Order: sequence, then structure tokens, then C-alpha cells
Amino acid sequence: MRIILASSNSGKIAEFKAYLKDYKVLSYSEVIEPFEIEEYGKSFKENAIIKSRAVFDRLNDKNAVVLSDDSGISVPLLGGIPGIYSARFAGKDANAQKNLELLVEKLKEAGVERTDAFYTAAIAISTNRGDFSVHGWMYGEAVTDPKGSNGFGYDPMFIPKGFDKTLGELEESVKEQFSHRSRALKLALILLKTLIKDKK
Ligand code: IMP
Repeated sequence: MRIILASSNSGKIAEFKAYLKDYKVLSYSEVIEPFEIEEYGKSFKENAIIKSRAVFDRLNDKNAVVLSDDSGISVPLLGGIPGIYSARFAGKDANAQKNLELLVEKLKEAGVERTDAFYTAAIAISTNRGDFSVHGWMYGEAVTDPKGSNGFGYDPMFIPKGFDKTLGELEESVKEQFSHRSRALKLALILLKTLIKDKK
């Protein structure tokens, strides 16, 4: 049984392959020509399903199992931003550094040095039986003095609950134990096993 990932992001693909090591995992771009998928959804779940469904439909293979993920960080004090816009928070030319700097600026404008924040990951699975999704969350605080270079994205400015260091400073193996993506993947694995068993 092969699982097709609706992503061309090498970081995400590596994380998924490591987690789903009992399966043959391929990026959809190894199977078909990559194409633009507009993420017009209003939630992580909607965007994850948009991606997995678009790839499932394009594959034209009723036995395909397609998995996708949509994730981001939310700061309740700032009304939940950047949320589903995490990857493109700083606009058209956004990159991880610009996004992080903008969030730090917004926190400073709000007059705080640290405040509650959380990461969300939605994972969707599309098969010929429909679209399914699960979520995982990681809670902590966003801070205005980013530290460390481990992880990616907003990690240098995020201190997980129960720690006094940012994810930029903590070993990646520590993050893996309780990250939003690991938690969602744990549930996705259960769903995957059920869906695959039903297919036989
Ligand atoms: P997506 O590829 O559209 O799901 O966007 C995910 C974005 O959310 C990334 O580009 C990061 O900005 C942010 N993000 C998601 N998960 C993480 C994480 O584990 N660490 C840091 N940033 C993350």
C-alpha cells in the first residue's frame, strides 16, 4: 500500500516518511506533474482537505490514499493571527524570518513580551470513500526575543508549556514527542489503518 503526500515541502515529507515508516510514502510530485493548489479554506481542516482532495482527484486512481497537512501558529491576544495565514503572514514575499519578525513586532505593539500561543496541525486523508481529518495542538507562549535555530518557522519565538527554552533551542527530538504534527499524525495513523483495512 502506498501513501501519496499532497505536499512538495521537503521538510514535511521527511517528517511524514519518518513517522509512516511501515508504509511506502511518496510525494505526489513523484507520481504526477506538480500543480498549484489554491488554499481558499477558512480553517486548517478545510485547507488540508482541499489539498488532499485536489491530489486524489488529479491522480485518477480509485485505490489511492492521499494524505496532507495544514498547520500554523495562533496568538489569542492578537485575535488568533497568523493562524491559517502563518506561511504567508508577511505578504507576497514572505519567508520564515520575515513572518517571525512581523509576529514579534505585533506582540511588541500589543505591549507584551510573552503571551499564550498554540500551534495547530490538521491532517487530511482522501480516498475513494471520502475525506477524513484529524487535528493536533501544541500549547505554549510566543515571546518577543527569539532564540535558537532548531526547528523551523516560528520555533525560535515559541516556548512550549512546561519548558523555559524556545523550540529553537530545544532538540528536535524533544519537539517531536509532543508537537502538534506528531499528535495529529498519531491519530492519522489510526485512521489510516482503519481505512486501509476496509479497502482489503
Ligand atoms: P502550510 O505549509 O500551509 O501548512 O503552512 C505551515 C506554516 O505554519 C509554516 O510555514 C510555518 O510558518 C508555520 N508552522 C507550522 N508548523 C510549524 C512548526 O512546527 N514550527 C514552526 N512553524 C510552523
